Amino acid sequence: MSATQGCSRCGTPLPVADGYVTWCHECGWNLRPVEQDGTAQGRLHRLYDAAGRRVGNRMASRLRSADRLLPSWTPAKVAAHGIAFGVYGFTAALFAGGLWLAAGAFPNPAALVAAALMLGVAILMRPRFGRPSAEGAVDRSSAPRLLALIDEVASALGTPPVHIVQIDEEYNASWAVVGLRRRRVLRLGLPLLAVLDPQERVAVIAHELAHGRNGDARRGFFVGSAVRGLGELYGVVRPEGRIDYDSYFGIFERIVNVILYVVSRPAMWLLLVELHLL
Ligand SMILES: [Zn+2]
Ligand SMILES: [Zn+2]
Repeated sequence: MSATQGCSRCGTPLPVADGYVTWCHECGWNLRPVEQDGTAQGRLHRLYDAAGRRVGNRMASRLRSADRLLPSWTPAKVAAHGIAFGVYGFTAALFAGGLWLAAGAFPNPAALVAAALMLGVAILMRPRFGRPSAEGAVDRSSAPRLLALIDEVASALGTPPVHIVQIDEEYNASWAVVGLRRRRVLRLGLPLLAVLDPQERVAVIAHELAHGRNGDARRGFFVGSAVRGLGELYGVVRPEGRIDYDSYFGIFERIVNVILYVVSRPAMWLLLVELHLL
């Protein structure tokens, strides 16, 4: 990293390091990230993006006019939980139906294939708790001041203390409630902590703990896991985008695609409704 280059805006000599973007510490030249063109890949991603923007705008306007900021049940939240409940019911019925078909129609091969499909989709759609890992976990003896700060922030927010604090290499921080025992996990990326001022670190920790205070992770499990299940279902039954009509099997592909289109609509509509409600 001995090479240097003059800043194209202000002329300051800049160090040039192989594999890194050159930027100017004097005038900020080349500091902005590359503009994204904003067209996410695929219909599902565009739906998620649109839902995210809507949630953000709605929340901002609600918070501006609210007298109290405690989380509460809104009709949309109730409906979102209702749909999630239906998704779990469907998954359970698919699983039970698959077992029933396999046992009842044995050894009919067509029935066994159908049963395997039903069981496979049910397993894909199953609710997932996530699994706590010990990777990068720090405790009171290895990071006493950090843990004390996290405890202090938790008590200031009126939220129960964190079970597991993990340090990773991400330029990010995150909050999750995982496992059957619902362990509260705070992940802090070392690169992020390193670039923040002390008060900014307090703010990041408070932001993450506020996800728990607000009940976001719980909603994230019940509704979020159902949304993921619907997404899995849609991924299985979604029709193929491009078909080679000239191929020998073109006509069969077209027939299969029409069937898949019809079968995939309910999953897509439910997913749309659920995303609108969030
Ligand atoms: Zn410059
Ligand atoms: Zn957050």
